[in-house]
Amino acid sequence: MKIASIRTHVLAARLSQPFAYSRAWYDTRMAMIVEIQTDSGLVGWGESYGPAWMTSAVVRTVAPWLVGQDPLCTDLIWQETYAGLRDHGQKGVVIEALSGIDIALWDIKGKHFGVPACRLMGGPLRDTVQAYATGLYRRKSGDPVHYLAEEAAGYVAEGFKAVKLKVGFGIEEDARVTRAVRQAIGPGIGLMVDANHAYDAVAAIRLGRMIEPYDIGWFEEPVPPEDLVGHLAVKAAISIPLAGGECEFTRFGFRDLLVAHALDILQPDTCATGGLSECKKIADMAVAFGTRYNPHCWGTSIAIAASLQLLAVLPAHTPPSLAVTEPTLEFDRTEHPIRQAILTTPIEPVGGIVRVPDGPGLGIEIDRDALARFAAR
Ligand code: CA
Repeated sequence: MKIASIRTHVLAARLSQPFAYSRAWYDTRMAMIVEIQTDSGLVGWGESYGPAWMTSAVVRTVAPWLVGQDPLCTDLIWQETYAGLRDHGQKGVVIEALSGIDIALWDIKGKHFGVPACRLMGGPLRDTVQAYATGLYRRKSGDPVHYLAEEAAGYVAEGFKAVKLKVGFGIEEDARVTRAVRQAIGPGIGLMVDANHAYDAVAAIRLGRMIEPYDIGWFEEPVPPEDLVGHLAVKAAISIPLAGGECEFTRFGFRDLLVAHALDILQPDTCATGGLSECKKIADMAVAFGTRYNPHCWGTSIAIAASLQLLAVLPAHTPPSLAVTEPTLEFDRTEHPIRQAILTTPIEPVGGIVRVPDGPGLGIEIDRDALARFAAR
């Protein structure tokens, strides 16, 4: 079997209501989907996180290197593509593009052998995954203390056992909103906060100390990803576990975070940090360092499906026992018109639980009409 062609699909959809995190407003959701055709007729699908037109350009640039290669040689293709661009792209857009290619190759590999990708990665260790709700973004009008408390209670009513709140809008307001959300969801539900690296260590420590009484599951990206010393300062100063890694890339980037013990919870994005091949390697490194791994996920259902195949083989966070802590799926609950539309059968949580697709490859079927409908110009 040989790779016959590689196509990219850049998709876009306007939102009915804009929403904001700590650094920007969104009014459009975009996606970059990778389609790899083989000479045997098998087709693989992948997704790249990041700026869609840029990741698409990288995939199209390297596509001629891949045509004619054996798509089952995922590590070989990863290494050769990485080496081909190493001098210009050890992090960022190049690796995001490579992630989409790698995921599509794993989809082909699973289809070739007639099993889900997780079976070829040594699993599954589990066939369902607990999801937490990512949402609780800012709106153009209304008091966030009220609408975020109401939104969080809604996720709990849907069955989610944990929710993640966006912070980074000023320390006093963050603390006020965190208290309101905790009151709304009650004591038995997980509550995490995510600053999207809006703060420096001084501000992050101050916020961390103010919200410690609200039983925070983790503090995500308190400081910029490059600020290793800032991570260590925040980690030493507060009792809340530190999470991050959606802006870090490959085993080489995570090696440095692990050696420094900068994070309690790694959050590589499967569609950004190097694909399923690289995430499995990072997961094994994380175990050796006693560090938890919960994938970042913020894309279409292709990204969700890839995350689920990985989650099926991530080791439990704690050693086998009656009180074992399992890795969890980030489930974005914000508006994303493309997310479920591109699958013939959507992946949705039921009572906060998501089933790992058990069909071949990623276990999904793409709706080509939706690809055409959302095609960006
Ligand atoms: Ca985040």
